[in-house]
Amino acid sequence: MMTYDDNPVNFLSDIQPSEKNWDTHRAEAESVRLLYSLSTEFTKYATRIYDCSQVLKFAPTPDKLVLKHAFFCRVRYCPVCQWRRSLLWRAVMFQQLPAIKEKYPAYRWVFLTLTVKNPHVTDFGETLKAMNSAWQRMAQTKRFKGVVKGFIRTTEVTRGKDGEMMAHPHFHALLLVDSTYFNRNYIKQYEWVTMWQKALRVNYEPSVYVKAVKPSKEGEEDNLDKAICETLKYSVKPSNIAKDDDGGDWLHEMTKQTLNMRFIATGGVLKGVLKPEEEVTQEEMLTPSGQDEAQDEPKRIGFRYMPHYGKYVYSLAHTNF
Ligand SMILES: [Zn+2]
Repeated sequence: MMTYDDNPVNFLSDIQPSEKNWDTHRAEAESVRLLYSLSTEFTKYATRIYDCSQVLKFAPTPDKLVLKHAFFCRVRYCPVCQWRRSLLWRAVMFQQLPAIKEKYPAYRWVFLTLTVKNPHVTDFGETLKAMNSAWQRMAQTKRFKGVVKGFIRTTEVTRGKDGEMMAHPHFHALLLVDSTYFNRNYIKQYEWVTMWQKALRVNYEPSVYVKAVKPSKEGEEDNLDKAICETLKYSVKPSNIAKDDDGGDWLHEMTKQTLNMRFIATGGVLKGVLKPEEEVTQEEMLTPSGQDEAQDEPKRIGFRYMPHYGKYVYSLAHTNF
């Protein structure tokens, strides 16, 4: 009989530390899978997440391993799939930036976060629909159209702090504004509140956070990069989804409420720059940068996720030389 001593365990994260994120996200996916498996209605999601990125196959190159094969389950709240989609969207934005800068050299970026009163999770679908309509109304106003020339907008949800089954939805938007925004057409924070309140048709003042993306000083992390990463991250924080003290009730209800809803939107001169989640392909999730490296390398080194280690482990069965 083979023991671990005869057959040492080789972790992906030891062989290539830069791939450590796989362990983190796959472990989160395992927690989400467990929560889905607790409801007969969602066992199919549990099965799909079980298969998600179970095996990774890399092509060896002299300086690194290049990911060549993985299966993605595409369950909306799968932490691995959320991560891969956000990597794709970020990569696409970064690739598009130089062209945007060249086309609109005087335009600047503004980072806007819009919230509403926390709904109970059973009202989440209705709330999100109302927020989407409100955004459309606001985007049609003269004031908005006068300065905002394009936008990318994502939806993020966290758990509400005001109760077990409460949700805190918010929009993150990156607005591409023309140069008049910073002088005669400047929209102050309180004005954004008024515009958002009017668009929402509510009788309370919603919280709005707005910040111009300032050009970075030398040596500093790029502020636009930071704003892009903040806008294009997960839609629900994995630790929020996987919180298991409610037996998955919050996740199950949230899943029902957001079926077939889009969490990403683009408009104006940025319309269509990022594809919606359902159009993102397996291939794009596999290689978000779009760079097809090690094309002529037929060898594959396989790793399999092992829940009891919480890590990817080298797998001879998935390796071919
Ligand atoms: Zn997945």
